[in-house]
Amino acid sequence: MLLPTLTPTAPDDPEVVRIGDDHLSREDLVGAATAVAERIAGARTVAVLAQPTVETVLAVVGGLIAGVPVVPVPPDSGPRELEHILSDSGAQAWLGPAPDETTLPVVPVRRYAKSWHRHPEPRADSTALILYTSGTTGLPKGVPITRHAIAEGLDALADAWLWTADDTLAHGLPLFHVHGLILGVLGPLRRGGRLIHTVKPTAPGYAAAAESGASMFFGVPTVWSRVGADPDAARTLSSARVLVSGSAPLPVPVFERIRDLTGHEIVERYGMTETLITVSTRVDGERRPGWVGLPLAGVETRLREGGEDVPHDGESVGDLHVRGPMMSSGYLNRPEATTESWLDDGFFATGDVAVIDPSGMHRIVGRRATDLIKSAGYRIGAGEIETVLLAHPAVREVAVIGVPDDYLGQRIVAYVVGDEVADTELIEFVAGELSNHKRPREIRFVDSLPRNAMGKVQKKLLG
Ligand code: ATP
Ligand code: MG
Repeated sequence: MLLPTLTPTAPDDPEVVRIGDDHLSREDLVGAATAVAERIAGARTVAVLAQPTVETVLAVVGGLIAGVPVVPVPPDSGPRELEHILSDSGAQAWLGPAPDETTLPVVPVRRYAKSWHRHPEPRADSTALILYTSGTTGLPKGVPITRHAIAEGLDALADAWLWTADDTLAHGLPLFHVHGLILGVLGPLRRGGRLIHTVKPTAPGYAAAAESGASMFFGVPTVWSRVGADPDAARTLSSARVLVSGSAPLPVPVFERIRDLTGHEIVERYGMTETLITVSTRVDGERRPGWVGLPLAGVETRLREGGEDVPHDGESVGDLHVRGPMMSSGYLNRPEATTESWLDDGFFATGDVAVIDPSGMHRIVGRRATDLIKSAGYRIGAGEIETVLLAHPAVREVAVIGVPDDYLGQRIVAYVVGDEVADTELIEFVAGELSNHKRPREIRFVDSLPRNAMGKVQKKLLG
């Protein structure tokens, strides 16, 4: 059963989900979600405007009970993205609130219905959610995710993070992404623990959750950087059991600052919409800043370059392939992209390049498309240069890219947010740490970097 804690036999809990000032008891959640399930039984696919509200949780859980695939739609989607997600997914109705301009029927989600009867469990291989990728490299791609994959992914995480029913998870992440929705909502519901969603991921919101007894905190790197900028709020998180970061590279200075303020070394995790979460540091294992950890239980990984295996020597870079029970089996409506990424031997080609050390620790170098720079015949990971630049006191944020260059193939350019210093100072700073060919040729100072809701830098908008 995907959510064993949502059965009539589970003990009631007066506040299993809190979102902002609103909350649901376990009885309300099961009763109202069951009523939702009855309204949509037999539907093909339904869309949910994924605002951070208890209605969103009721709609998603209602879909899971009914066995109807749910498509969580980012609430700030522009008209083009909205049209793309609705037509691509074939959603037939909105569950709960809908955008003003919608032409689809709307099924209301009501609270406090009490109909505690048991629904048959849908097949494990049926689609529970259709999630769209973040669109960092192109148009978001729809990924049907089965109940089985969600259950496997969450159990593997529970194993790595020692996650139990005693935990209260707190975060303020969007509810339309693997991180905020599958880990962040279905995680506590599967474990039988509680969720405090802070509506927005702010430092005071996280501090208040810590004061209410939250034991686990999730954040993307921009959230941890925000928490680190508010030392009083950050210190409150010392009472937590574990802090987790994922979805984008966690800068080493942010890891160190949070460690100094809270006493916790952030647990990192790596994954993607297509594979859920596949690699993480363990709560009871080594945490190495800049490294994302070991494959989760049941997951295999390998590095490839030009069809050959790359040694796991802690230095050699290759394309990261993963295989495991939490993976989905292809994109919606994209047979070509599916064949390109899902290989014949069951591995998924992530599009990311990585390094693995002999103990199995993984370091994500970045995306092959934007983070692997080919300059003067060398293959250079943008992340390595970003890490060095972030250690310079004048640099707050940085994104390094390769721009086309007649002579070098690609020229290394660093976009920097921070105090304006001479560009030569930053270039020399990198030259002091890395080989000469890794030195940026140009520094461009900017007010901010283009980021999406998950805090990922949109490198396709730079250059
Ligand atoms: P699209 O596939 O549409 O271009 P996307 O890849 O950003 O967008 P997601 O599935 O949301 O969409 O994100 C997965 C990607 O996020 C991974 O492939 C990886 O590049 C990055 N990522 C996730 N976790 C980490 C991490 N801990 N460290 C570095 N990068 C990470
Ligand atoms: Mg992707």
